[in-house]
Amino acid sequence: MTANAEIICVGTELLLGDILNTNAQFLAQELAKLGIAHYYQTVVGDNPERIKQAIAIACDRAQLLIFTGGLGPTPDDLTHATVADFFGVPLIERQEILEDLNQKFTQRGRILTPNNLKQALLPEGADILTNATGSAPGIIWQPRPDLTFLTFPGVPAEMKHMWQEVAVPYLKSLGWGQTTIYSRTLKFWGIAESTLAEKVHSFFNMKNPTIAPYANNGEVKLRISALADADATAQEMIAPIEQQLRQIGGLDCYGADEDTLASVVGSLLQATDATLAVAESCTGGSLGGMITAVPGSSRHFWGGIISYDNSVKVGLLGVNPEDLARQGAVSPVVAEQMAAGVRDRLNTTWGLSITGVAGPDGGTPSKPVGLVYIGLAGLEGVQSFEYRFGAMRGRDWIRHLSAHTALDQLRRKLLSKERLTNHP
Ligand code: ATP
Ligand code: MG
Repeated sequence: MTANAEIICVGTELLLGDILNTNAQFLAQELAKLGIAHYYQTVVGDNPERIKQAIAIACDRAQLLIFTGGLGPTPDDLTHATVADFFGVPLIERQEILEDLNQKFTQRGRILTPNNLKQALLPEGADILTNATGSAPGIIWQPRPDLTFLTFPGVPAEMKHMWQEVAVPYLKSLGWGQTTIYSRTLKFWGIAESTLAEKVHSFFNMKNPTIAPYANNGEVKLRISALADADATAQEMIAPIEQQLRQIGGLDCYGADEDTLASVVGSLLQATDATLAVAESCTGGSLGGMITAVPGSSRHFWGGIISYDNSVKVGLLGVNPEDLARQGAVSPVVAEQMAAGVRDRLNTTWGLSITGVAGPDGGTPSKPVGLVYIGLAGLEGVQSFEYRFGAMRGRDWIRHLSAHTALDQLRRKLLSKERLTNHP
């Protein structure tokens, strides 16, 4: 097995679910960046026996043990005492820590209590991992030649600072982190994870780079990760694979990494000096919210109308009251008139609309919860799209899919136009 690290987070708060283990998340991402393999994470309460068991197990399977939590002054802060006990070494009071604590407390106008003196006790033989932004120092320790211990306080800001400033340079000096894992994530909308997985299945056997699929919130992602000695090399390894995957994904692939549907649509609109206005019913403004979350969206987004009540659809968007009465608010014709109306009234290149039954009430056999129409109006006229998102996952889910799908329809339209102009 390759040399690997294990993260051990100490804290009963974590076990109770009172706090999220963001320290493990941060350290896991950092280890990945350094190309340090890591196969296990342990969360253990403030209990010496169980902490020792966790150490015993981790020592058997990892060479780098990274602890967070339990370095503070209170009786439940046991990490250093337990680690020392495990290796049968005494705790030694460190003069330099006492001086540092004294200085920090004097600066803040506080008095050092006997509790705080505990923080100056470190296992014999361990080096001090200085904590510049807090009081509790950690340790850097090799209790055995094949084993490196790092301990950090639980407070995330202190831990991160110590990791970056002290631990990473130290690990590199020991020969850890000579490689890097660089990842790029391709993002897809409008295709199921299983369908995409099927299309790209031959890539899943690759060893370096590796390809892994993920699905969440209606979108599917493919993460391409390469292990190399430098970021630039990894990027070179990823580029041709990305190109092939984009080719296979076609229009379903909307972007990569930080891209969102709204940012991609924004760039496409700006590329043609086009502008957009939206008319929303069941999404109640979340489409406008997504669009304006992108910095610089004022260049392409003029605004929107939340036409929740039919009187607003008629009064502000010019929807025909007879069509409304005959077809209902959730209908292709109303979606189209909303899109055309907002485009006309706000004087934009494109008008995009959403009307649907978000539920949980209000569904009928012919118009069930989850039925959504998206209208799109442009220079050449207006069209609508029907979706049946189903009632199963509830109101928020229907609204989420509606807003994203509306942006995706506009994106596809803009791309097909781009293709037409580029290849007449
Ligand atoms: P302190 O000196 O504050 O007592 P400590 O090293 O003893 O620091 P803990 O007492 O275990 O650390 O945790 C201090 C605080 O840090 C917790 O109340 C919690 O808010 C945060 N914390 C601890 N562990 C984690 C973790 N794994 N992920 C995120 N936050 C954490
Ligand atoms: Mg504590």
